[in-house]
Amino acid sequence: MPRTHAALPRLYVKSALTQGVQFTLGKEQSLYLAAVLRKVVGDQVVLFNGRDGAWLAQLASDSKKSVSLDLVEQIAVQPPVADLWYGFAPLKTERLDYVIQKAVEMGVGTIQPVITRFTQVNRLKHERLVANAIEAAEQCEVLNVPEVAAEVTLDRLIDSWPSDRKLILADESEASSSPVDALQALKGEKIGVLIGPEGGFSDGERAKLRALPYVVPISLGPRILRADTAAVAALAVIQAIIGDWR
Ligand code: SAM
Repeated sequence: MPRTHAALPRLYVKSALTQGVQFTLGKEQSLYLAAVLRKVVGDQVVLFNGRDGAWLAQLASDSKKSVSLDLVEQIAVQPPVADLWYGFAPLKTERLDYVIQKAVEMGVGTIQPVITRFTQVNRLKHERLVANAIEAAEQCEVLNVPEVAAEVTLDRLIDSWPSDRKLILADESEASSSPVDALQALKGEKIGVLIGPEGGFSDGERAKLRALPYVVPISLGPRILRADTAAVAALAVIQAIIGDWR
C-alpha cells in the first residue's frame, strides 16, 4: 500500500467495497471519525473488510451519529489469507489482549485459544478477542483479520488435528538450541505453533505432545520467557525462517 495513505485512519467495515458505493457508518465508528478524530466532509480514510482489499474513501457527511462515505479508489488488493495457525493458552485480560494483537501483527491466519491443565483463564469473551484482532489489523495495515476460533481443550485439539499440518511446540524443556534447523526442515509445510500457559504444560501434556508424529518441539533460547513474550519470539523466528518475512 502506498505509504502516502499510511497517515490516514483505517477502519474495518463489514460492507462490500466496490467502486462508486456510498455507505453510512454505524454510530460507534461515526463518533470516532467525527468527534474523536474531528474528520469533516472531504477528509479521507482507508476502509477494508478482509475481502476487497483497501479502499480510499472520502467523508460525504460528518454527523457524529452517522458519517457517510464515498469510495474513491482501491489502493491495495486483498492479499492471500495467511495459513499460519497460532495456538496459545489464554492469559489474564490485558496480556490476553496483547497476545491477540501481536498474533495479528505477526501475520497469523487462525488464532486458537487452547485450554490446558495450568491455563489461568477458562472462559473467554470471544467478542473481545475479535475486537482486539480488528483493532490490531486497523492499526497495522493488516488486510486479513485472522479467524478467532472458540476455545478448545488440548485433548480436543489433538483429537482433531489435521494430519497434513505440523505443530511447532514451544517447549522450554527442549535443550537450549537454535530453532533454525528444526524450522528450516518444515519449509513448505502447513504449520501451526503452540505456546503454553504461564505455568507451562503439565508433564503429562508435554509427554503426550512430544510423542505425536506431527509435533516439532523448539527451544526459544536459554531463558524462560513469559507466555506473551514466547508468543512473539516464536512467531518472529517462524516468520523469519519459513514464513512471510522473506
Ligand atoms: N514451565 C515454566 C513455568 O512454569 O513458569 C515456564 C512456562 S513459560 C512461562 C510459558 C510458555 O512459554 C511455555 O509453555 C512455552 O510454550 C513457552 N516458553 C517459554 N520459554 C521458552 C523457551 N525458552 N523455549 C521454548 N518455549 C518457551
